[in-house]
Amino acid sequence: MSIFELKRIFMQFENSSAFAQQLDQQDPLRLYRDQFHFPQIAGKQAIYFTGNSLGLQPKNTQQYVDEVMKDWADLAVEGHFHAQKPWWDYHERMAAPLSKVVGAKPSEITVMNTLTVNLHLLMVSFYRPAGKRYKIICEEKAFPSDQYMLHSQVKFHGYDPDDAIVTLKKRPGEHNFRLEDILDTIAQVGDACALILIGGVNYYTGQVFDMQAITEAGHAIGAYVGWDLAHAAGNIHLALHEWNVDFAAWCSYKYMNSGPGNASGCFIHERFHGQKDIPRFEGWWGTQKKDRFLMKPEFDPMPNADAWQLSNAPILSLAPYLASLVLFEEVGMDTLIAKRNVIVAYLEFILLEIAKEVQGSFEIITPAQPAARGTQLSVFLHGEGRSLFEYLMKHGVITDWREPNVIRLAPAPFYCSYEDMYQFGQILKKGILAT
Ligand SMILES: *Cc1c(COP(=O)(O)O)cnc(C)c1O
Repeated sequence: MSIFELKRIFMQFENSSAFAQQLDQQDPLRLYRDQFHFPQIAGKQAIYFTGNSLGLQPKNTQQYVDEVMKDWADLAVEGHFHAQKPWWDYHERMAAPLSKVVGAKPSEITVMNTLTVNLHLLMVSFYRPAGKRYKIICEEKAFPSDQYMLHSQVKFHGYDPDDAIVTLKKRPGEHNFRLEDILDTIAQVGDACALILIGGVNYYTGQVFDMQAITEAGHAIGAYVGWDLAHAAGNIHLALHEWNVDFAAWCSYKYMNSGPGNASGCFIHERFHGQKDIPRFEGWWGTQKKDRFLMKPEFDPMPNADAWQLSNAPILSLAPYLASLVLFEEVGMDTLIAKRNVIVAYLEFILLEIAKEVQGSFEIITPAQPAARGTQLSVFLHGEGRSLFEYLMKHGVITDWREPNVIRLAPAPFYCSYEDMYQFGQILKKGILAT
C-alpha cells in the first residue's frame, strides 16, 4: 500500500463504534477471531495488543497436543514411526507452510530449539572472523538477548566487543533508522565486516528494515547477512530466498501463536546446503534420514536446512506450532497483511483523533510509511506513562510497557477487531484525563 492509498483510506475513517463495526462486517478474517482464546479481565474479553509478545492460543492447538499425548500413552516408543504424525520426521511437516510465511523454499526451512539458541548455532556457520575481517554490524539498542548473544560470540572468538561490534545509529532527535545511514556504515566498515545481524522489525519502534537493500550491501562488502525475524515472521511480507539472505531465525510465540517459549524457525539459503565442510555444530537429527538409526560414526548431512538439526525433535512443543501453521496456511500472508494495513491505519487514526482532544500527551514513534512498519504502533507518552499503562490494564486493555515511557500496541490481524480499536480509543482518552 502506498502512502497515498493510506491517506485516502484515512480520510474515510470515522472514530465511531458504528463505523468500526462496519469495517468488522467487511473483514474477511472476522470469523477467525472466534478461533482464538482471549484472556478475560473483570469478566470481559480483553482488548489484546500484545500479539507481538505472546500470540493468543488458537482453539485447534489443544487437539494437536492431545493427539501427541494420546499417541505417547498408546504407543510409547512405537510413536516414533507409528504415531498419527510420526515423531521421527514430525518437524518436516512445518517446512512447507513456513516457507510461504517467510518467502523461502521448503528445503531452506528447519524448526528446532529456541531463537537465541539458534542464532548462536547459526553464528557457528556464519560468524567466522579471520584476519582483519571480524566485525559485526547490528542495530543500536538491539533486543537485549541479541546484544548478549553478539557480545558473548565476539568474546568467545577473542575480540573486544567495543571494537568488534559496530552499532547502527539513529540521528539525534529521530526515532527511526535511515537506510542511507545504514548503507554508509556498511560501506565504512567494509572488508572489516564479517557479519551483519539485525532484527528485521525493530522490537521497540516497529520499524521494518529494508532487508533486501541491506543484504545486498552486506554481500557487496563480502560479509554474511542474517536476520532476527522475531517480530517479522507472521507479520510482514518476507522473501528471504529472493533477497538472497544467508540465514535467519525467528521465535514462533509472537505473531505465530505457537505458545510460550516455543520452538524457533530457521532459514538457511540453499547455496549452503550439502556442504560437508561448513563449520557447524552437529547432532544426530542432522544426519541423512535413512541412516539416522544406524548409529554410524560419520556425519552425513541432510541435503537441506535440516543438516543444522541436533536433537530429536521436542514433539510436544512442535504440535502447537503445527496447529498454528494450519491457520496461516488457510489464510495466507497476503490476506493478513491486507487487513494489517487497514487496522494499523485505523488505530493510528484513532490515536491522532484522541491526541487532538488531549493535546500533546503522546506521539507515535513508529514510521508513518506503510512499507516501513508492520502490525505495531509504539506510542511515546509524555505524561505519567506507567500509571496510564496500569489504567489501561485495569480497564481491559492489555498493552506492553517499555522503559522509559513507551506503550507498544500490536493489533494482530488474525484476531483483533476494528471495534477493539474504537473501544481502546475511548478507554485511552478517559485514562489520559484520569491519570
Ligand atoms: C522476542 C525476541 C527474542 C527472544 O528470544 P528467545 O530466545 O526466544 O527468548 C530475541 N530477539 C528478538 C529481536 C526478539 O524480539
